[in-house]
Amino acid sequence: MPTTTARIFNFSAGPAVLPVEVLEEAQQNLLSYPGVGMSILEMSHRSKTFDDIIQGCEADMRALANIPSNYKVLFLQGGASLQFSMVPMNLLPAGGSADYIITGAWSQKAAKEAKRVGAVKVAASTESENFTRVPKQNELKLDPNAAFVHMTSNNTIFGTEWQYLPDVGTVPLVSDTSSDMFSGPIDVANHALIYAGAQKNLAPAGVTIVIIREDMLQRSPASLPTMLNYTVHAENQSLYNTPPVFAIYIMRLVMTWLQKQGGLAAIDKVNRRKADKLYAEIDRTGYYRGHAQKDSRSRMNVTFRLSSEELEKKFAKEATTAGLDGLKGHRSVGGMRASIYNGFPESGIDALVDFMKEFERRNG
Ligand SMILES: *Cc1c(COP(=O)(O)O)cnc(C)c1O
Repeated sequence: MPTTTARIFNFSAGPAVLPVEVLEEAQQNLLSYPGVGMSILEMSHRSKTFDDIIQGCEADMRALANIPSNYKVLFLQGGASLQFSMVPMNLLPAGGSADYIITGAWSQKAAKEAKRVGAVKVAASTESENFTRVPKQNELKLDPNAAFVHMTSNNTIFGTEWQYLPDVGTVPLVSDTSSDMFSGPIDVANHALIYAGAQKNLAPAGVTIVIIREDMLQRSPASLPTMLNYTVHAENQSLYNTPPVFAIYIMRLVMTWLQKQGGLAAIDKVNRRKADKLYAEIDRTGYYRGHAQKDSRSRMNVTFRLSSEELEKKFAKEATTAGLDGLKGHRSVGGMRASIYNGFPESGIDALVDFMKEFERRNG
């Protein structure tokens, strides 16, 4: 049987590392879910057992993130990318326009899909600075009549993260939180809709979470294709069609794990400590250069460069050999990216810092 000691440190941006305890429990229950005599993989989504799983998952999410009772939690499919379309299809009325804050490749994609549905205004963009930061409040050109404002809370590719929630007045705020949902406390009440593809910080690929304020559901046009209509999913408790049962089961285990860690404030502390260690090493001598400006640094995706692409290739290759996998950055930024989500162990940060010191010593 494989043991956890055979696991390498996985810095992948997504699908990404899951807590070992979660994988072990899933492994233990894979052939026969306790008391049922069959695998969760083989079980009806209409069964009592699965109902307990999805209800328990939602209850834990509500408790962890203090989700107010006038918000629905939806378990959907199609990834965050389908939300790029579903958000404007449901929330952008004919003749209206939406504000998009462009902070990286994912916000660009979100805006591109929204333009297929209706009018889009760019409220701010940091593209001219190669997305090294997110905008400040006074840089946002917000339209008070916008149907909604769309932001990306953590920019997975560039390694930047909002350190504050923008004030958008009474306009509904929509946030793509695919790479930092549940990495720390969430101010749900100041959002109208929060969504995330789960495969970075919450679960394996296959499930997408949408937390939506109930009044937003009134906007969904009846003419929408059924599966693209938030109201249909809300009215059917996410069981209009077969949901991704296994991904939801794992997510349920991840939520239990998060509770055991002490909740979102506690995991936030750990995430900050992990990221701070890595940024401290990046800042130590100037040998490594962080991509993100200091006041926009992500706790989840740490991006940095070396002095040449050759050295970067060497770094990635030797790191992989040393059991530090997935550090090659996205092609649009270059360099390195260490994705260090909730499930990533602190010992892996220490191992990377040691490796960085040693690499600098040998190649400085
Ligand atoms: C990964 C990612 C996406 C795309 O997610 P899919 O589930 O693959 O569609 C969108 N937004 C952000 C911020 C991401 O990190």
